[in-house]
Amino acid sequence: MQNVNEKYMKSALRLAQKAEVMDEVPVGAVIVHEGRIIGRGYNRRQTKQNSLEHAELMAIAQACRKLGSWRLEGCDLYVTLEPCPMCAGAIIQSRVRKVYFGAFDAKGGAVGSVTNLFELPQWNHHPDFEGGLLEDECSKILKDFFRAKRQKKKLKKKLRQTEANEGEECCSDHGHPSLFSVLADSSETSTNTPQQSISFSNCLETPLDENTQKGGEQ
Ligand SMILES: [Zn+2]
Repeated sequence: MQNVNEKYMKSALRLAQKAEVMDEVPVGAVIVHEGRIIGRGYNRRQTKQNSLEHAELMAIAQACRKLGSWRLEGCDLYVTLEPCPMCAGAIIQSRVRKVYFGAFDAKGGAVGSVTNLFELPQWNHHPDFEGGLLEDECSKILKDFFRAKRQKKKLKKKLRQTEANEGEECCSDHGHPSLFSVLADSSETSTNTPQQSISFSNCLETPLDENTQKGGEQ
């Protein structure tokens, strides 16, 4: 039986799926106050072409409107990915009580991975935090998203090459490669494939596979 924290993280995961449908890096967040979700957010950075459109900020803005206050005291935030420095700062400013996050972000996380803004003694507010809640599910949605992105990019490149060769080669012997064969041998092009330029790619391309850190609650 899932506990209440997992229930809220699953709500955040559903919002991450909403981002994914929009071809956004799938990150979702909810804010809970007295057993009720009062803020929801998901990454919309590409759609809005605005670097402020992170899931946590959207959820914080909604929760503030709901409570009619910038102070989110007594509120807990659930987010599928470890908050970045911008969002960790907003969480501190909003006086959020506790943050639960799912996947660790070894190259961009500001709640234990790269740094931990919540533990700097100079601040006047230190949110409690717990990382790794439903970590597998939260990591998987990100990994699957980037894998699909890479595959699509390789496929496009292959198709472009094929089209470029069409006028030069006689295909009577070999025929044109099918989409499936292009996909199957797309790994051959991996060394020539530039880094993808989609959102969060810098911090999520490798760490979830190789450098994922465990723990987070000190
Ligand atoms: Zn952020």
